[in-house]
This record gives sequence, C-alpha cells and structure tokens, in this order.
Amino acid sequence: MDLLNTLVDKGLRRELPTREEALAVLATSDDDLLDVVAAAGKVRRHWFGRRVKLNYLVNLKSGLCPEDCSYCSQRLGSKAEILKYTWLKPEDASRAAAAGLAGGAKRVCLVASGRGPTDRDVDRVSRTIKAIKDENEGVEVCACLGLLSDGQAERLRDAGADAYNHNLNTSESTYGDITTTHTYADRVDTVQKAHAAGLSACSGLIAGMGESDEDLVDVVFSLRELDPDSVPVNFLIPFEGTPLAKEWHLTPQRCLRILAMTRFVCPDVEVRIAGGREVHLRSMQPLALHLANSIFLGDYLTSEGQAGKADLDMIADAGFEVEGADRVTLPEHRAARDCGSHPSAGCGSAGDTGCGGHDAGGCGSHEGGGICGSAPAPAPAADEPRPDLVAVRRRGAGTDLAPNA
Ligand code: SF4
Repeated sequence: MDLLNTLVDKGLRRELPTREEALAVLATSDDDLLDVVAAAGKVRRHWFGRRVKLNYLVNLKSGLCPEDCSYCSQRLGSKAEILKYTWLKPEDASRAAAAGLAGGAKRVCLVASGRGPTDRDVDRVSRTIKAIKDENEGVEVCACLGLLSDGQAERLRDAGADAYNHNLNTSESTYGDITTTHTYADRVDTVQKAHAAGLSACSGLIAGMGESDEDLVDVVFSLRELDPDSVPVNFLIPFEGTPLAKEWHLTPQRCLRILAMTRFVCPDVEVRIAGGREVHLRSMQPLALHLANSIFLGDYLTSEGQAGKADLDMIADAGFEVEGADRVTLPEHRAARDCGSHPSAGCGSAGDTGCGGHDAGGCGSHEGGGICGSAPAPAPAADEPRPDLVAVRRRGAGTDLAPNA
C-alpha cells in the first residue's frame, strides 16, 4: 500500500506525516490491519529494536481529588469503589517501587491524585524520590503530581526526578467536554514547565472517550509539537461510578490502529501502552508490542493489570526482550539532547518518560486500568459493555497485600 510505504519512509527519517495520512491509518480496514502493524513495526524496530521498557506505577495518594476529569475513578464525586488513601510514607513507596524493579521495571512512576502539588507535597515527594534512589541504583524516577506551579519542576529535578508526566489526554477542541476544573492550556503549560526545567517530558492521550478520528490526530500532532520523550497511550477504562462508565467503544483493532498512528507521528519517541491494555487489546496485546516500545508492568493506579509474570511471558513469547537498566531507551539523537539540557536527570540511564500520568481512564494516568487476570474472556462485540474486565486494585500500595510485579 502506497500509504504505508510513505509512512515507513517518513518514520525512518523522523518526518511528520500529513494529517490526511494519519487519518488514513485510522480509517484502514481490518483486512489491512496486519499490513499496518507490520509497517509501523518497521519504524518501531528502527528506533527501538525489539526492546520493551517496563515502567512501574506507585500510587502515592489515591482518590479524593477535587478535579472533575470524567474518565477518572479518583475524580470529584466518583462512585467507583477504589482504594482511597493519603500520601504514602517514603519508605512504603520505596518498598512498592522495589517490587516493580525486582520484576524487571527500570522506571518508577510516582503518581498522586489532585490538581497539583503544594510546596509541602513537593518536599514530601522529594524525600520519596531520595528514598527510592538511595535504595535502587540507576533507577529512573518520573513524577506525576498534576499541574505544576513555577519552580516546582526545578525542585523535583533537583531532588533527583528524571521525568515528569502530564497528559494532554484529548484534543484542545474537546477538552472542555471532558474536564471543567482546569483547561487544556493548563496541561500544556505544565508539560512545558517540565521541559524547561530539564526534566524528560512524558505526555500522552486517552482514547475511547467518544472522540473522533480528527480529535485523535489533533492530540497526537499536538504532542509531537510539544516534543515529549515519551507518549503514553491510554485506552479508557470505563469505571462504574464515573460519567464515562458506558463508553465501551474500543475494539482491539481500533487500539492497534491508534498505536500505529501514534508511532508514525512520533516515530522516535517512547510510545507506551498505558491503562486499558488488558481491557481493550485483550488477546491482541502481543501485536501491540510491534508498535509500542514500552508498557507498565503489573497493576495500574486504581485497577489491576494482568500478573507481572504474564507481562514478562508475553514479551518473551512475542520475540521481544525486556530493556535492561544499562540500555538507553531513546535513540542517540534524543538521548544526547536530553543529556545536554538535563544535568541531574540521569541522562546516562536514558531518559524519558513518565508514568501514564495524571489521568487516564486508565492509568495512563491517574487512573488505572485494568484487569485482569489471566483467564481470557470471550471476544465481545464492539460496544458491548464489559465491566467484568475491570478489576479495582486491592493490593500493593495503600494495602497490606503484596504488589503485583
Ligand atoms: S486525572 Fe488527576 S486531576 Fe483529574 S480527577 Fe483524576 S486524579 Fe484528579
């Protein structure tokens, strides 16, 4: 297909596709899906080989958020029966992080619900970063604490943070339909603050919130312009008790097309499959590894993922390898750029990305996606609600039970 040949050529040259080309990827038929995956897979392998970076989420503070992000189980007024707790102590967060690192993760993503941190919160998170870094040599730490005020990104960088995550989530034109308590511009501003402070910026999206193909292309093009090092792609987890509980529109094929489009538009960036991986890709997860070079290991913020061992087995079975702490994630031209501007951010260790972020219906953000265990579910028809695929997290951070890693 001419379209795919063109997109591969552009991806290998880091050239931006046209909007029409990006839209055409989303419009491909199921008959063409494997060709789309193969083409985007060439771009993925050119920049990242067969490596898969594993990231581990630690939810530092869960629920009780005053913001109203519709996709989020921690939002104001959420009836989702998630774990709710206030700040974890640094030693407890460090213990949770250690479990993820022992399971193969190289980055720890420290996430807290809320509009944004107070200066006291930044002190607290700084102590947590120190505790994790003291115990785990070479670990990358990404913070995801919401909207940043002036000076806070610099303080996090000075405390040892490598990256900061804040997702754009959706297009500027539909942002107001999803959240009313802050704006798209607020989110852009925080990503820019992270960048300016020399932190590796991580910013992504949530698909499945009723957006159009144009919205998806808009947000991915906006991300390319913001130039984060990592882009988490969340697939909405329609939590019972949230306004988007009935938004079950994604199919595995649609998820693969969205990941392929993201790879073509952001060819040399860490594309991470974030919340909703198990819920929406289901048995097609291994194909998604040909598109994304990064996933979360184990559980999400408020929902459970498949067993950490199942993640590792899937990677091995699909012919990929877990990226070691000694490998730099980003291609040389990107890693070198970060090294220059990122004095304390662990450029040697690669650098990029952060956790899903402050949001996502899935984790990607603040939320979490998830499920689910190992028992494969029968393939549902498109649009058929599957709340049985969403398991609220009941283990790990904030509980007495061992984390999934
Ligand atoms: S995404 Fe973050 S800011 Fe929005 S409601 Fe959830 S916890 Fe609050």
